[in-house]
Amino acid sequence: MDTEYVNDRTGFDRKIIKMSKTVEKEIEDIFKSINSIKEYNQIKVIRAMQKNKLSESHFTGTTGYGYGDRGREVLESVYAGIFNAEDALVRHHITTGTQALTLCLFGILRPGDELLSVTGRPYDTLEEVIGLRGEDGNSLRDFGIKYRQINLNPENKCDCDKIEDGLNEKTRMVLIQRSRGYEWKKSLRIDEIGRIIKSIRRINNNAVILVDNCYGEFVEDREPTEAGADLVAGSLIKNPGGGIAPTGGYIAGKEELVKQAACRLTSPGLGKEVGSTLGLNRLLFQGIFFAPHVVAESLKGAVFCAALMKKLGFEISPLPDDNRSDIIQAVKFNNAESLIMFCRGIQKGSPVDAHVLLQPWDMPGYDCKVIMAAGGFIQGSSIELSADAPVRPPYIAYVQGGLVYESVKLGVLTAVQNMARNGLLKIDIS
Ligand SMILES: *Cc1c(COP(=O)(O)O)cnc(C)c1O
Repeated sequence: MDTEYVNDRTGFDRKIIKMSKTVEKEIEDIFKSINSIKEYNQIKVIRAMQKNKLSESHFTGTTGYGYGDRGREVLESVYAGIFNAEDALVRHHITTGTQALTLCLFGILRPGDELLSVTGRPYDTLEEVIGLRGEDGNSLRDFGIKYRQINLNPENKCDCDKIEDGLNEKTRMVLIQRSRGYEWKKSLRIDEIGRIIKSIRRINNNAVILVDNCYGEFVEDREPTEAGADLVAGSLIKNPGGGIAPTGGYIAGKEELVKQAACRLTSPGLGKEVGSTLGLNRLLFQGIFFAPHVVAESLKGAVFCAALMKKLGFEISPLPDDNRSDIIQAVKFNNAESLIMFCRGIQKGSPVDAHVLLQPWDMPGYDCKVIMAAGGFIQGSSIELSADAPVRPPYIAYVQGGLVYESVKLGVLTAVQNMARNGLLKIDIS
């Protein structure tokens, strides 16, 4: 915060403001490099819109079947352009990122096929899709699709040497997760994804390579489809929705594969041809337009959070100047009290539901209580400032999102002040 707050309405102690300023000075150069990626991606998005001759008429929606919805077609073509892909499926009907990935899995895999994850255990919600957890009879396993995984090596990285052992002629699809997810490991950079794909291709030319792109879009200047991936999928209430898309998911990649996923979303024979947009087109266009900017804001927020928490002596991952490929920032607290106090602080600093006192709760699918700070405009939107934490050792909070950098800063500073006032940390400034 650059002013001295002559008329101080921020409610922060002077110590906190001083420390915040010091931290911001230290991370100036990192912000510069975030800005240059942002600028490049913003141009990429605008160019795709221009190339598709985006006009006002594309903002009107259809009802019913949604045949001949020009706006929808242009939106999907814009996405394809941005991802350098043959085709894309971008729909508000896709309820979650999990569903977008599910469409790819169920759309392409057939009984007897094998799915191989080369980045270890997949994201939590995919466990029930694959059939690693849950017994409701609707998983890939129940359709006779096998699953195997190559675990990460001791450094928590993809073990390229083991890919050879994992792949065989039955491997129909390989799953790569770009983001760290909610784990203490690094996200996969696009060049690393490219290397993994090269290792796969040395052995198997036919397997479909699917990248779970959630939280990764626009963090770098390339997407996985530009590093050899056949298909990517993600959520519109994360990065590519820019905080404006009210709901939805996307898939981009090879035309035939996108079609297979579309046939699972709608019906065989209907594919991409139906799906009324109900007037949502404009919001999805505006969302992807804002996305590079909003992603940069949340990255700056993540870097600020990292640098500040590090200064206060906490273990963090990634480090402020680590190369990132997703927007998640993990902070380790080592005790439940600090973790809960921190998350409550994030909530207190949010624009919506700031007055709510967060409580850890028994969330379905978890083996411990979970605390979630989410004071955003769109339910569950994690491109907005949010923090999630399973309340179990080593008590890690995963902080992500922020439509506006200042709001992340406000959230994090409120959290720190909250902890300090409750005697959970000491702010020493020299
Ligand atoms: C968010 C996310 C998903 C999908 O989650 P939804 O909550 O269903 O949108 C999948 N994989 C990763 C890595 C994610 O971060």
